[in-house]
Amino acid sequence: MAVPMKFLTEDLEAMKRDGLYGTIRTIESPQGAWVKIAGKDYINLCSNNYLGLCNDPRLVKKVKDYVDKYGIGPGAVRTIAGTMIPHIELERRLAEFKGADAAIVLQSGFCANLAVIPTLVPSADDTIYSDSLNHASIIDACRLSKAKVVRYEHSNLDDLTAKLEEFKGAPGKHLLVTDGVFSMDGDIAKLPEIVEICEKYGVIVVVDDAHGEGVLGRGGRGIVDHFGLHGKVDVEVGTMSKAFGVMGGVIAGSTTLIDYIRQKARPNLFSSALTVPDIAANLASVDILEESEELVTRLRENGDFLKMELSAIGFNTGNSETPITPVIIGEAQDAKTFSAKLFENGVFATAIVFPTVPKGTARIRCMVSAAHSRDDLNLAVERFAKVGREMGIIL
Ligand SMILES: *Cc1c(COP(=O)(O)O)cnc(C)c1O
Repeated sequence: MAVPMKFLTEDLEAMKRDGLYGTIRTIESPQGAWVKIAGKDYINLCSNNYLGLCNDPRLVKKVKDYVDKYGIGPGAVRTIAGTMIPHIELERRLAEFKGADAAIVLQSGFCANLAVIPTLVPSADDTIYSDSLNHASIIDACRLSKAKVVRYEHSNLDDLTAKLEEFKGAPGKHLLVTDGVFSMDGDIAKLPEIVEICEKYGVIVVVDDAHGEGVLGRGGRGIVDHFGLHGKVDVEVGTMSKAFGVMGGVIAGSTTLIDYIRQKARPNLFSSALTVPDIAANLASVDILEESEELVTRLRENGDFLKMELSAIGFNTGNSETPITPVIIGEAQDAKTFSAKLFENGVFATAIVFPTVPKGTARIRCMVSAAHSRDDLNLAVERFAKVGREMGIIL
């Protein structure tokens, strides 16, 4: 390899040495309660396919209908080549679903954060208050803004208030951004209190509801609905890559906010829209969520069941308030061994280690789905018990 590129091999080797090099499995089946890997079937506890919609026949059918009618690609960015009817239809349906005045659909949840933060608070005079456990896409979005970023301790309202007090009166705009559901522990942001405090200090509130969309609130309408905060949260960011089972990001809020984002956000101005199949599949997901709460209810029941069963046999499942079920093992190497042994026993559940979670709290994060049957979950618990006893983690 050419000399200036030698760092690639060196860095990759260092990652391998430190156990930080990730193995990415090849999945030979659709995403579902089970997945096929190297010809074998595994119980899938890794995906964010909360409602099992990734391979739902209703999504597949809607995609086929829309592709027949509209083709595939959007042609160019929307401000140049125009917006296709399916995109407008999805934006209207999502706004209605979430009880917001308007919505705009972006390419991903990641892009939606990049569209919100640098657009609303671009200047070096501005101040961003950011929860210390916010998602990487929020951190990167903050880096794209010139604003001062003030991190407050995770969900600590006293620390938040102290920071707001410290920076109040600073010129420019002030904006707070928080995950709605924190993905590694499954805890929920204290949104009612955050909204109240921010109102007092005149701070814009942005919530990224990626893990709450299709999960929290009535029929999966998200964190704002969960707390009954309609009209009180300035900006709701979301993703359709999790519970919706597809891909795409969404921003919901006032008509003026959405108009502003449409006109000024760089991911909308300089990157093309989602494809017609993505939009069609998302429309089918909204249809399914609006028709019935059945999947959302089953997801919650499955999450409660798995947590209860795993903690009953002695595992530490943390303080999750959502279907996210962490099984805290402790040391990184133990969590990795645990995950490898689960895999040998037919369970696909990845270990999550430092720097994604603090040192000493390495874990297996179980993501349950409405698609899992009770038999699937019982089998998973049995395999966790077997490996846990083999490793001396439970008695
Ligand atoms: C998953 C996630 C995202 C990224 O969503 P994509 O649509 O996959 O890009 C953004 N924010 C949070 C909080 C997430 O959990």
